[in-house]
Amino acid sequence: KTAVDNYYVDAAFLQGRLPARPKFSHKGTFGHALLLAGSRGKVGAAVLAASACLRGGVGLLTVRVPEVGYFILQTTVPEAMCLTDPAPDFLTELPDLQPYAAVGMGPGLGQAEASREVLRQLLHKAKVPLVLDADALNLLGANRDLLDLLPPDTLLTPHPKEFERLTGEPARDDYHRLEQLRAFTRQRRCYCVLKGAYTVLATPDGIIYFNSTGNPGMATGGSGDVLTGLLLALRADKRLSPLNAALLGLYAHGRAGDLAARETGEAGLVAGDLVRFIGPALQELM
Ligand code: AMP
Ligand code: MG
Repeated sequence: KTAVDNYYVDAAFLQGRLPARPKFSHKGTFGHALLLAGSRGKVGAAVLAASACLRGGVGLLTVRVPEVGYFILQTTVPEAMCLTDPAPDFLTELPDLQPYAAVGMGPGLGQAEASREVLRQLLHKAKVPLVLDADALNLLGANRDLLDLLPPDTLLTPHPKEFERLTGEPARDDYHRLEQLRAFTRQRRCYCVLKGAYTVLATPDGIIYFNSTGNPGMATGGSGDVLTGLLLALRADKRLSPLNAALLGLYAHGRAGDLAARETGEAGLVAGDLVRFIGPALQELM
């Protein structure tokens, strides 16, 4: 298409894109998000994503977990409401979506058939922004017919392995993978992040944005779950366009990693540290 369809995203690029919280705002101003996450042994992913969503400025958060996650969520993330699935170990039923401004699904989900059907129902019924990550992406990759159900402007956040499952075709090299990404978002009319050292975002028009923040300390379990929660908060905020929500989330996530690493060092950084620095990272963009 045109010559210039790649951008490099630094603080200057994002200047003015994050609106301040109005003086007379209330919880409803910033949206009520729903997070579908967690399964036996992976409730921590739900905890990290939920914590990040709250630090991302969401107005209200409800987390849907299987029974096994109830006490864990309520004690570790008291700010979130917890709506348990009737099943003990993984999600089997989609709750009523009416109250929610955005829905995130995937962290720690597992790949049970019943959870795949929850995803299918979500894709059929959702009329609000969706953020899909982790096992929600793996389920999409393993059931390619579901890709035809993606609502426009859905945000997907695969790492390269998950992206390969989505396309079903291994990339020859990094350049080929970028072209696959561009083709994928154009075809599916979605936004797709490709996570790594220089995380990229591709838009439904095939435009690519390279994020500038982050460090190798973030190559640690749970980092991606934090990103999902943060992006969910930003997509629930009706004042932000899908593009601005994604760019701000990617940048702030990496910046939180850079701020955290000053304290912990790269090796000592764990995903929970990222959560603590989301607030400061967003504040820098005001
Ligand atoms: P996940 O693999 O789903 O846990 O996601 C990992 C997260 O950490 C993504 O947001 C990546 O962009 C980030 N990350 C992983 N490795 C690096 C790296 N070497 N440099 C910067 N960010 C990284
Ligand atoms: Mg992940």
